[in-house]
Amino acid sequence: MQRITILGATGSIGVSTLDVLARHPDKYRVYALSAHERVDALAAQCRVFRPQRAVVGTEQAAARLRELLAGLPIDVAHGEAALCEIASSPDTDTVMAAIVGAAGLAPALAAARAGKKILLANKEALVMSGQLFMDAVKEHKATLLPIDSEHNAIFQSLPGTYGRSPDAAGVAKILLTASGGPFLQRAVETLEAVTPEEACKHPNWSMGRKISVDSATMMNKGLEVIEAHWLFGAPADRIEVVIHPQSVIHSMVSYVDGSVLAQLGNPDMRTPIAHALAYPERIASGVEQLDLTQWAALAFHKPDFDRFPCLALAFDALRAGGTAPALLNAANEVAVQAFLERRIGFRDIDRVVRRVMDENPHGAATSIAAVMAQDARARAAAERIVHAS
Ligand code: NAD
Ligand code: MG
Repeated sequence: MQRITILGATGSIGVSTLDVLARHPDKYRVYALSAHERVDALAAQCRVFRPQRAVVGTEQAAARLRELLAGLPIDVAHGEAALCEIASSPDTDTVMAAIVGAAGLAPALAAARAGKKILLANKEALVMSGQLFMDAVKEHKATLLPIDSEHNAIFQSLPGTYGRSPDAAGVAKILLTASGGPFLQRAVETLEAVTPEEACKHPNWSMGRKISVDSATMMNKGLEVIEAHWLFGAPADRIEVVIHPQSVIHSMVSYVDGSVLAQLGNPDMRTPIAHALAYPERIASGVEQLDLTQWAALAFHKPDFDRFPCLALAFDALRAGGTAPALLNAANEVAVQAFLERRIGFRDIDRVVRRVMDENPHGAATSIAAVMAQDARARAAAERIVHAS
């Protein structure tokens, strides 16, 4: 029996994870679940999956959850320290890190330091503190498996070479596919007027609101470039973004001998989740088998960096190194939240991020404290720009 902690159980990835787990009660048991604010949804999950522990964001949320779960033997706690506890407890084997944004860093890192098997959906954690995170994984012999569909595809296309340098593995390039999001074809001059509803309507994937907006600006792909750099040890110029609107190929690896390996499937996160849960075995995920005869054509083309300036900003941050990606990530989180709250327009997202990057020096990412200090400075700077606009 694998004992599982799900950080961010009420989110899109959390719900898909529970869906896969429910299909295999003989293999997996839920040890702990967490949610931030959606206490009713978490209570419903607790009644079905009967974890030993549940963690929420605030004391009030915890009190409400205790009421809802009265009579059940479930320990309820709140706050970051409790998240770190359920991520590192000796009573859990595997941690699904599916909190959105920088809030997920501390518990994901706690899981790494406790040597857990980490299923990483929370790409922002790796973007912020890539070197420190990968060092912790190595030092504490944790196992890191990517859930992001592209990185899971790359992992599957690197048979037996995970953790080796790209050169040693004969890798020429990592080809990171991108759907291009909802605005791939929309006239550029109309992007100013995009609403949160339009930005959250992804053509191929159903996801949380923050990652949906990131997909619309293609900041998501930018964060994924940085994520791929840390997971697979590839420098920026060996990671190429390829627009592939159908999202059938989830990414590819191009080798020095001319071979290209790809992973294909229907766009459903239960596939990478099931892959990582069962790795190196395979289990059913509930996803329908891909029927390639249904596809008249699969298209591929180069990304337009003028239409999607966030993609260029992310490459810049990766090349700058140090705490620059943490700066980028924090500014983006603030800008996306402000856009969702209709405080700024869609195109202001890249403007806010660029200004924060231009106006704030980055430093060396020598410690988590240094990364978190950079994160805080970037958030304050981004808030000031949002406020003034
Ligand atoms: P979501 O918004 O649907 O869910 C986020 C979860 O995190 C919720 O359970 C919420 O309660 C919790 N949460 C939010 N803020 C929190 C905080 N401050 N402290 C503690 N918990 C908090 O998001 P999602 O779409 O499930 O994405 C989760 C992560 O997975 C993100 O990092 C995203 O980039 C990544 N990811 C998602 C998908 C997808 O298809 N949804 C695909 C690839 C990667
Ligand atoms: Mg992805």
